[in-house]
Amino acid sequence: MAKKFYVTTPIYYANGLPHIGHAYASFIADVYARYKRLLGYEVKFSTGLDENSQKIVQKAQELWKDTMVFLDEIADGSLKIWKTLDISYTDFIRTTEARHAAFVQKILQKIYDKGEDIYQGEYSGLYCVGCEAFKNERDLVNGVCPDHLTKPEVIKEKNWFFKLSKYQGFLEKWFAEHPTFVESASRFNEVKAFVERGVEDFSISRENNTFGIPLPFDSSQITYVWFDALLNYITVCQEEGEKFWDKDTYILHVMAKDIVKFHATYWPAMLESAGYRLPDQEYVTGYLTVDGQKMSKSLGNIVDPVQVAQDYDRDAEVFYLLYDAPIGADGDFSWDRFKGTYESVLIGAWGNLVNRVVSLCSKYGITEGNISWKEDFFSDFLLDYLEEKYLNSGNLQVYLQDRYRLVQSANEYITKAEPWKKYKDEATKQEAIDDLKFLLYIVKNLALLTAPVLINGFAKIQRMFGNEVLSKIDSSKNMMNDDFQKAFAMKEFTVDLKPEIIYQRKEKTE
Ligand SMILES: [Zn+2]
Repeated sequence: MAKKFYVTTPIYYANGLPHIGHAYASFIADVYARYKRLLGYEVKFSTGLDENSQKIVQKAQELWKDTMVFLDEIADGSLKIWKTLDISYTDFIRTTEARHAAFVQKILQKIYDKGEDIYQGEYSGLYCVGCEAFKNERDLVNGVCPDHLTKPEVIKEKNWFFKLSKYQGFLEKWFAEHPTFVESASRFNEVKAFVERGVEDFSISRENNTFGIPLPFDSSQITYVWFDALLNYITVCQEEGEKFWDKDTYILHVMAKDIVKFHATYWPAMLESAGYRLPDQEYVTGYLTVDGQKMSKSLGNIVDPVQVAQDYDRDAEVFYLLYDAPIGADGDFSWDRFKGTYESVLIGAWGNLVNRVVSLCSKYGITEGNISWKEDFFSDFLLDYLEEKYLNSGNLQVYLQDRYRLVQSANEYITKAEPWKKYKDEATKQEAIDDLKFLLYIVKNLALLTAPVLINGFAKIQRMFGNEVLSKIDSSKNMMNDDFQKAFAMKEFTVDLKPEIIYQRKEKTE
C-alpha cells in the first residue's frame, strides 16, 4: 500500500482574490504535494475559501451584489488563478457548501453530546471585526488591534463556549512530545508562550450573525467562523471515508503567521475533543512585504501572482519566493532581487548549463548520458532527497541553495573541461565525449532534484531529452509507480536530443 500524504493551504478569506502572499502559501503546499507524489506517496492536496463571514455579507452589500453571487465570482477568480499558477490541488472547498455545513454540525453535535466541552454562557468582551476574533486588553496596542489598527467593539451576548481551558495540559504535553509540530522554531516558541500564559474558553457561536452554519443544538445561533473554518480540512476527507485523516497519513498544514494561534491551539483541542488525530506538522509563513513596504491598495504595490507568471515565468516566481527567505521568517518581494534571481540563477546558471550541454551533445551527435566511468558524486544528494531530509524539516531554502551549488560546480566543470576545444583534436576527442556524457547525466539528475519546484523547466527538459522513462514523470498526478526513482537510478541512458531554450530573459514592456 502506498504511503499517504495530505497537505493543505489555509482556506483563503473570500473577500477578495488571492495575492502574492496567498500564492506563497499555495506554492509551498504545491511543492510538497509534487515532491511526495514523485516519491510514490498517494497525495491529497486541499485548498479553498473561507466564506461564512458577516464581513463578506457587508462587502457584497457595498458592491450592490447578492452575497452568493459575490462569492461565486471570488471562487471562479480564485480557481483561474490557481490553474494559471499550476497549483496541483486535488480538492477545493467552499465553506458555504452543504457538505461542509453537514460535517460541521455533525462534529458540533458530537462534542455537545459529550456534555462537558460545550456550555452556554454570557459573553462580554472586545471584538475585532477585522480579525473576527475576541481580543484581550493585552492583545491590543494603544487600544487598537495591531493587525487592523481599529478599535475593537464591545460585544455583550449569550453564546455557546468551547472549553479550551480544559485542554491546557493536553496542549502543553503535545508540544513537548512533538518538538517540530510548528515550523519554524521561533513561530513555535510564540505559540508555546501564548499557551503558557493560560488558554481561555472561546465562544463558538454568534447571536446576531445571519450568514453561516446554525448550531445543531440551538438554531438561533450561528457557528463562529473559526470553529467552522478549521473543520474544512476534514470535510474534504469525507468522500473517501476519512482515509486521508487516519493514523497512516502524514498530515501537513501550511499557513501564514496571523492564523497560527487558531491552528496550533484551538484546532488540536477541537480534534482531541471530537476524537480525531492531530496533524503531523504546521508550517508557518511570515508576511511578505513588497520592496520593504506593506502591500496595500493605496500604495498601489500589490503584486499579482498571475501577472508575474505571465511576464516572467511561474518557475521564477516559486523559485524566488522559496529561495529568498526561509519559511517562517517575514519575507520581502523585491522586484530587483526577483529579476536578479531569475536572471542569475535560473537563466544564467541553470539555463546556461542545460543549454550548453544539450546543444553541444546535439551538435556532436552524442545520444547517451553516462556516469559509470566516474564516481557517483550525486549519491549523497540523492540519499538526502530520498530520505526526505531537507523537505521534512521545512527547509526549502537550504534545499534550493544546495542544488544551486551543484549547478555552479557543473558549470565550472564544463568551463574548465572545454569540450568544444577538446572535440576538435583527435587526441582529446574521446575525452570531450566522455565529459559531455557525464554532464548530460548531471543535467538529468539536477532536473529530477528540482522537478517539484521548477515544473516548466522540467517539462522542457523532458521534451529535450526525449527519454521514455523521463517523459513518463508527472508530479501533478498520483502515479503509484516508481518511474521517478527509475529515472534517478539510470547511470547509462539514451536521449534523442531536441534543444530548446529553457528560460528566457524578459524585457518587461511597460
Ligand atoms: Zn484585528
